[in-house]
Amino acid sequence: MTVSTHQFSTKLLTWYHRQDRSLPWRHDPPDPYQVWISEIMLQQTTFSTVQNRFSAFIAVFPTITALAKASQTEVLRHWAGLGYYARARNLHYCAQVIVDKHHGVLPQSIPELRALPGIGAYTAAAIAAIAYDVTSVATDSNVKRIYARLVRNLLPIQDNNPDLHTFFLASQHGHSPREHLQAWLDFGEILCRSRHPKCADCPVQKLCLGRDIAVQLPIKPTKKPRRQLYAYAYWLENADGAVWLRRRPPRGLLAGMLEVPTSHWQENAPSHTEGIPQLRWQATNQQIQHRFTHIDLTVHILRARGFNDTDLAQYSSESAWYRLNSHAELGLPTLMKKIVGAMLSAK
Ligand code: SF4
Repeated sequence: MTVSTHQFSTKLLTWYHRQDRSLPWRHDPPDPYQVWISEIMLQQTTFSTVQNRFSAFIAVFPTITALAKASQTEVLRHWAGLGYYARARNLHYCAQVIVDKHHGVLPQSIPELRALPGIGAYTAAAIAAIAYDVTSVATDSNVKRIYARLVRNLLPIQDNNPDLHTFFLASQHGHSPREHLQAWLDFGEILCRSRHPKCADCPVQKLCLGRDIAVQLPIKPTKKPRRQLYAYAYWLENADGAVWLRRRPPRGLLAGMLEVPTSHWQENAPSHTEGIPQLRWQATNQQIQHRFTHIDLTVHILRARGFNDTDLAQYSSESAWYRLNSHAELGLPTLMKKIVGAMLSAK
């Protein structure tokens, strides 16, 4: 049995127009810059977090030129809480490339978009469709999930699945690519949801071949095992109660972000301390658990007090004393907020 792409898209688009959904990055006509920012934010951050944070980011960086002119530190600070900070660094660099090579205007063609830093195949296709109404195949997790359920696909679906591409393009025929893609995305967010699909309210339920096993679809590919890593965090206070923070190296996890200095993150519990060797580090009862995509990290916090050496650069470049009554204004990544929060509340 096959699903009629014509019937599916007609019902889907009718539902989409009835919804007339309002989102902070959705304008008529679309602002390509805001479309790009929203697509990057939505890559690895939950929809509700992006909805809450998008407008604040745009208020600080209202245009590509404003983003390009900002310092990387400033961009990272306003990205804090959205996670996966490589995206923010790429976004910043990409804005500078767009200003230098494209006169500050996001290009329209998929190959030109694809050539920009931090813009992958899906994002290029989505920007082309949503910002410029260009015919494209943009298959994110929503699209793959809906398709897998509709056609009852019982194998994991890769991004380049030819049947999915054929179905998606056929269902786009006769519709605006922008509205068509937004309809799929809204449908995946509102009705054909990952955990709790609302099949009873679904306009295409009569066409759907996988409705009875919807929560089991799509079949997930086998995941890589997660790694458990351990580290120490060095909570060092000077005589005035200010705390030592430093900037992490420009590559790797949390690259370029401010941190409570940590030891190397390693698979065995660290057997000795790094940090400033001559200090007497004392164990605290604070232990922080944090989950990255492929890593579970356990951090034990060590503490030392009364250190009065103002020349911190000899221990770590880009480090300084900070008064930490609150971590809100520093743009700390979530792991560091947990460490600071634990130590402030233990005072
Ligand atoms: S019937 Fe359920 S599983 Fe099928 S498309 Fe609709 S919401 Fe998704």
